[in-house]
Amino acid sequence: NGHTPESNVDVLIIGAGPAGLMAAAWMAHCGVKTRIVDKRNAKIYCGQADGLQCRSLEIFDSLGFGDRAWKEANHMIEICMWNPGADGVIRRSDRIPDTIVGLSRFQQIVLHQGRIERFFLDNIKKYSKDTIHVERGVLPESLEIDESKIDDDSAYPVTVKLRHLSEEESTPEQQISGSKVSDGLFRSNLVSKDDEEDLIAKSKSRPGTGEVVHAKYVIGCDGARSWTRRSLGFELQGEATDFIWGVMDIIPITDFPDIRMRCAIHSAENGSLMVIPRENKLVRLYIQLKEVTPDASGRADRSKITPDLIFSAAKKILSPYNIDYEYCDWWTAYQIGQRVGTDFDAHGRVFLAGDAVHTHSPKAGQGMNVSMQDAYNLGWKVGLVARGIAKRSILTTYQSERRRVAQDLIDFDHRFSRLFSGRPAKDVMDAEGVSMEEFKDAFEKGNLFASGLSVNYGPSNIVTKAGDAVEQGDGTKTVLSTVTPISQEAFDKKQALAKGLPVGMRFNSFKVLGQADARPFHIQERLKADGRFRVILFAGNILSATQKARVDKFCAALNAPGSFLRAVTPKDKPIDSIIEVLTIHSAKRTDTELLRDFPEILHPFDKHNGWDYYKVFVDDVSYHEGFGDAYNNYGIDKERGCVVVARPDQYVGWIGELEDFDELQKYFEGCLVFPSKA
Ligand code: FAD
Repeated sequence: NGHTPESNVDVLIIGAGPAGLMAAAWMAHCGVKTRIVDKRNAKIYCGQADGLQCRSLEIFDSLGFGDRAWKEANHMIEICMWNPGADGVIRRSDRIPDTIVGLSRFQQIVLHQGRIERFFLDNIKKYSKDTIHVERGVLPESLEIDESKIDDDSAYPVTVKLRHLSEEESTPEQQISGSKVSDGLFRSNLVSKDDEEDLIAKSKSRPGTGEVVHAKYVIGCDGARSWTRRSLGFELQGEATDFIWGVMDIIPITDFPDIRMRCAIHSAENGSLMVIPRENKLVRLYIQLKEVTPDASGRADRSKITPDLIFSAAKKILSPYNIDYEYCDWWTAYQIGQRVGTDFDAHGRVFLAGDAVHTHSPKAGQGMNVSMQDAYNLGWKVGLVARGIAKRSILTTYQSERRRVAQDLIDFDHRFSRLFSGRPAKDVMDAEGVSMEEFKDAFEKGNLFASGLSVNYGPSNIVTKAGDAVEQGDGTKTVLSTVTPISQEAFDKKQALAKGLPVGMRFNSFKVLGQADARPFHIQERLKADGRFRVILFAGNILSATQKARVDKFCAALNAPGSFLRAVTPKDKPIDSIIEVLTIHSAKRTDTELLRDFPEILHPFDKHNGWDYYKVFVDDVSYHEGFGDAYNNYGIDKERGCVVVARPDQYVGWIGELEDFDELQKYFEGCLVFPSKA
């Protein structure tokens, strides 16, 4: 049927869920030519994921829409635990804060996935100048990697055939036809087979529905049953359990006192329930379905699962309290299992992110968060490599950094789900039951992991720390090309310069003031997701002559013709285009002057715009927002300071003294392309 259109694109993203949208957001912020396709049309949206952890909010803020989520969401402040007393009746046994106090400037919130996807779409539109759109009703039919071209930076080694579906084909079927309430069963893991082959076959019969795309990089974010993963021949390893859970988003009518708290409820005999208070009066209930069990093949019959069945289970668990509803927004059911992908990339050209490489139960509110965090880790790397700014070798760090997190996630979920789905122990002698003390303890410990803030990346050419191998969690190790191998002893000395900024972890935030305008900023607000690396010069006491001499020397090296800063910056671009230098000093604000005390390279001059007033900050007391006390909180010497590198995703990549300029130079030589040197 005639001519099939053929085109080139730098990055092709398959799937526009949270992971795919995060990847697309990076491409928009980095200015990379990108397409993103999804087999579904946009029409149904409610339900699905809703919990947003602190790290995800920090990430949203770096992209520019943290405030939208924060404002619209329901805020989760306290968790209440309900367990059977000696009489078998449920009662509140404990209260704990939902987010560990002091961990982040954000706390956990809940807002449904559809809104979050909306924020992404608006952000992508803005930053891509309306060039990146989600193409709905489009899915891949084949994927081939030309291995002879994978080392050629200018080649498009991945060829993907795409199919365009009709409106009808791209609308998923609902479980109960004609019902006004949407269900999410078409995405649930209770559905074993996907409909891709049928869809492709149908649309093939119409002419003009095919297209060929040649891509430099492909990112498969196509969810738990990932077509991309299957077409690469990779697997998810792990197992399903017998635990089946239902989910309902309702406006409850109830006398249960904690319905606006997050609750973990274990009934004596009827299973467990989790309460998630939501935006717009909604409450989500996660309900254990003891009456539905998998058959011999390990799968439950989803046709048996209805909102009535799910809700009657909830009523039993909550009794003697009453619960009813008139409005249901959405419902679904799933079978708990934990699986992790064997491989996260093929030839450093095709990558998998999100549910495509890890699946687990949704109750801990992790899937969407970890999926977005995968893509947040991957996106800037692919973006900078596609633009010729970073070396292709940094792409290997995606798997080494994220597979470990995926493994930790499923271990966490396994433990947590077992404790949650198990029957509460009647007394200490009841070995088969779950100890409620153990559950509470796991919950509290799990909160740190769940926040996304315990992630600690291993050594690589973008994380300078001791060691040369990264544990994959499953016993295997990946050996990375550490560019500047550093002994444990030498590294410990560097880390001691700023104990509060562990290398490999995200740059923690405290408030500092603008030197020029005395306005308080959270330093993280200045670490925007624009694809730039940042060198943060903790300049120490700039008013001491000895320290000033050290700062001057560091700046002279930065300014020298062969410095990494000059080498990575294209001749016609501002000096902060690829790497931005930010300064935080510790002298008194009112005794210091921006233009007098700080070398020009720290607040570059531009003949059209004058001095840059937003690069030098001070650790001092504010008028209205207290004292961030950043140096003390980071554990940095107020006289001598130190130098820290933050990667474009805000992870600490390097720490050193002001005299360690050569090592800093090597860090950037290891990961960035130096065009002016070539
Ligand atoms: P998905 O969201 O599954 O997106 C994949 C996309 O790819 C879809 O849009 C799909 O249409 C598209 N696609 C699939 N196949 C193809 C193909 N062949 N071609 C083109 N496009 C394709 N997570 C949390 O963090 N917090 C929570 O509170 C939470 N609660 C949850 C509650 C429920 C009831 C469920 C079911 C999940 C919950 N999750 C939660 C998990 C979360 O929804 C997922 O982990 C998350 O959506 C994964 O994002 P993703 O982008 O990887 O995949």
